[in-house]
Amino acid sequence: MRIDKQANGGGDHEIVTSRSSDQVKEDEVDRACGTNGEKRNEYRILVGRPERRRPLGIPRRRSVDNITMDLRDIGWDGMDWIDLAHDRDQWRALVNTVIGWVLINQAVVGLPVAYVSYLMMKWRGSPPLRELPTFHWVLAEMAVHILMEEIGFYYSHRVLHSRYLYRFIHKRHHEWTAPIAVTAMYCHPIESIFSNMLPIFLGVFIMGSHVATAWLWFSLAILSTLNAHSGYHLPFLPSPEFHDFHHLKFNQCFGVLGVLDRIHGTDTSFRSTTAYARHVMMLNFTPPREAFPDESKCKAK
Ligand SMILES: [Zn+2]
Ligand SMILES: [Zn+2]
Repeated sequence: MRIDKQANGGGDHEIVTSRSSDQVKEDEVDRACGTNGEKRNEYRILVGRPERRRPLGIPRRRSVDNITMDLRDIGWDGMDWIDLAHDRDQWRALVNTVIGWVLINQAVVGLPVAYVSYLMMKWRGSPPLRELPTFHWVLAEMAVHILMEEIGFYYSHRVLHSRYLYRFIHKRHHEWTAPIAVTAMYCHPIESIFSNMLPIFLGVFIMGSHVATAWLWFSLAILSTLNAHSGYHLPFLPSPEFHDFHHLKFNQCFGVLGVLDRIHGTDTSFRSTTAYARHVMMLNFTPPREAFPDESKCKAK
């Protein structure tokens, strides 16, 4: 992503971000005092395995510098995330870039993919348009849709985190370590097709779902991903902590439900955090950070 450098707009503190500056600072602290295993994994994801393959003479970089390195790569020389969130002009430029890519993914990529999906459903055969499925059948199909999305998203997402693909494709989506809802579709077009659209279409194709069921499922899946990237842990809605943690740490929580992360052990760090305790649907109006307060991270370690 390229951002033209603009004059500082005065540092307005009312910018809506998914984490407060205090939380962002805490996350920075967390990175600085994170476990060695996490640092090693983060390094491996972003810059390969330099421990083994680093040519002689090239200094070893600390993994905590990776985020700064990422920011520098995309044109934010010397700025850290906290300064960025407090600069209204840069913030606007950043969000406008995101919106531009989302529109490209929706129109230039999404519409042709929707047409190809239509042709595939026509080839496969689907139930008559004027005959609606029963409520129970919709629920049964929805269970398959959810399962196929978990499988499709988890594995495609892990492939995108391989050192060959991360830098060229998935890195754009990870520019936001504290995402906001609109960044849900802020990604490379290839990622948009194979990791966003295909997993939610997989179940519909396998089951030959009615167009009304497909419409319902797509709407729920889009609402779910918007919620997961919103950074707001709202009452009576699924918790966004899981995917939020993925954006923060890069090497944890690759799936949607977390089932495959548990099986593959890619949620071990997450399960040792307060974010995991907080990862529940709030059934009252108590703020989650009040119900599950953060421990003093460095002191505790
Ligand atoms: Zn994401
Ligand atoms: Zn990722």
